[in-house]
Amino acid sequence: MSKKSNRRKFIEKSIASAIGVSGFSSCVESNEKEKQETVNVNFNKKYNWKMVTTWSPNMPVLGEGCNLFSEWVNKMSGGRLNINVYGGGELIPSLESFDAVSNGAVEMGSGASYYWAGKIPSGQFFSSVPFGMNSKQMNSWIISGGGYELYREIYEPFNLIPFVGGNTSMQMGGWFNKEINSFDDLKGLKMRIPGFGGKVLSKAGGTAVTVAGGEIYTNLERGVIDATEWIGPYHDYLMGFYQVAKYYYYPGWHEPGGVLEMIVNRDKFYQLPTDLQEIIKKGIEALNIWMQCEFDAKNSIYLNKLIDEEKVQLRKFPKDVLDTFKLKTREVIEEMIDKDLKSKKIFEAYNKFKNSFNDWSSVSDKIYYDL
Ligand code: CA
Repeated sequence: MSKKSNRRKFIEKSIASAIGVSGFSSCVESNEKEKQETVNVNFNKKYNWKMVTTWSPNMPVLGEGCNLFSEWVNKMSGGRLNINVYGGGELIPSLESFDAVSNGAVEMGSGASYYWAGKIPSGQFFSSVPFGMNSKQMNSWIISGGGYELYREIYEPFNLIPFVGGNTSMQMGGWFNKEINSFDDLKGLKMRIPGFGGKVLSKAGGTAVTVAGGEIYTNLERGVIDATEWIGPYHDYLMGFYQVAKYYYYPGWHEPGGVLEMIVNRDKFYQLPTDLQEIIKKGIEALNIWMQCEFDAKNSIYLNKLIDEEKVQLRKFPKDVLDTFKLKTREVIEEMIDKDLKSKKIFEAYNKFKNSFNDWSSVSDKIYYDL
């Protein structure tokens, strides 16, 4: 079709909708469909759901967000859908939530896909990859760039529907008891850093250790570990790490945009009337936006608080350290996609989207931030 006729079509469409004609017949159709569905909905039937989370009960932003989601759903459904939210360990241990939602013992759960790396290695591309996409890019990829299709495909065998249920936004590099001036300073460095980032650090000569959230502070204080990463200025401030570590490093190369995940049991989801299904979907979308705004707004306030009031010393990782991490990240990913075909397929899609986004951001966001 020629450019001219495309333009004509567009103009005709715009004029028609401006005078309220074009949508008329489809409007009637959808009203008719809605009426039928409405007839089938029993408005007196109430649903009681359980949501397990991997967060400590009422954890700022993460747990708080789940509580808010439950409130929104309750209000939107006129009290027909009640979701009881449980913190990690309240109903079942945090890391058992995948199985509990999968087998239908509970209806939904909140966590992050990298927690299930042992079951679905390729799922890690839907949380955060070192030097990978940030929160804006991840949302664009998953929601509008074909990511959801792949995400849903790998969770289907587990009878689960995954949703993007939030994002921590860009994280910080972490708290260090000694300065990192060059690649040599990574040797023997004992750092609490889980997942992908931990593998990269180990390859770069450091030692990645696992420490439960509640024990990080004392381990850092006693010198059992030299460094830890956590989330960003707001949560790090609440954890009090500035009291036991001197240097606060950036950027958070290992978690540039940690996607948080909501999983819903597939059968339970489709047993709900369509209006309640939609309320869950829209509630999760609202939660995704709320979490990111909350993280970014609080982080900007608390970063200044840490610097001005607590006299924290900010440090940027030297270039050779970041280059080393980048190189080792490639090795970790290559080993991963060599072993798992699904990971290969997803990484290719991930990378393709990231590259095309980079072209776009080099004439938009990237250049704008430097003005
Ligand atoms: Ca982290």
